[in-house]
Amino acid sequence: MKLILLGAPGAGKGTVAKLLTQMDGSVQISTGDILRGAVAAGTELGKKAEAAMKRGDLVSDDLIMGIMENRLQEPDCAKGFLLDGFPRTIPQADALKVLLAKLGIKLDMVVSIEVPRDVILDRLSTRRTCSNGKCQAIYNVKSNPPKKEGICDKCGSPVVQREDETEAAISHRLETYNQKTAPLIGFYEKEGMFVRVNATSSDAVIAAIKAKLGK
Ligand code: AMP
Repeated sequence: MKLILLGAPGAGKGTVAKLLTQMDGSVQISTGDILRGAVAAGTELGKKAEAAMKRGDLVSDDLIMGIMENRLQEPDCAKGFLLDGFPRTIPQADALKVLLAKLGIKLDMVVSIEVPRDVILDRLSTRRTCSNGKCQAIYNVKSNPPKKEGICDKCGSPVVQREDETEAAISHRLETYNQKTAPLIGFYEKEGMFVRVNATSSDAVIAAIKAKLGK
């Protein structure tokens, strides 16, 4: 399947994407994970993105489109992909449309996962992430803590609070979402392949997506 997952930070896009990959071999493409991996590895891309990410601002559309143009042409995308955290602005959505047409790819659906603000704030402030750029497993101190406190179950690296998950950065990221990303809902509604899912459980989101796809 070829889907775009829209939703505020903390809406559950990453969790839903990971579950969907198990259905048909589609790959999760998270621009946030790619950028954090680049920052951790100290690459040129990471150096360009780091300051904006720390503040909770978006990195430039050009940088993101450069990443996506390459990523979507990698062989593992042939079975399908779940775009998690991209596109995030109208110029990115416009550029994606041109890119998909050039590559001869048709999207199945754009899903907006909508979760109340208080649930999002609680989730983000209690979320913890594996500091290993190649792992980035997600935990939650309340609902899904690592077996050994502060240590990743999967790779043994320290599990930390992301620098953009302090209270100030979280509220800035939510503001950025409302200003820059929420307008994509109108964009994709006009394109006619848009589905809105109001659900706080990832299983309910998956069920709604499957029903819409007829799977
Ligand atoms: P995320 O993990 O998706 O919340 O992304 C973390 C941070 O990476 C964001 O706050 C942005 O600074 C940056 N980022 C991720 N995806 C994009 C994108 N599509 N456009 C611009 N910045 C992005």
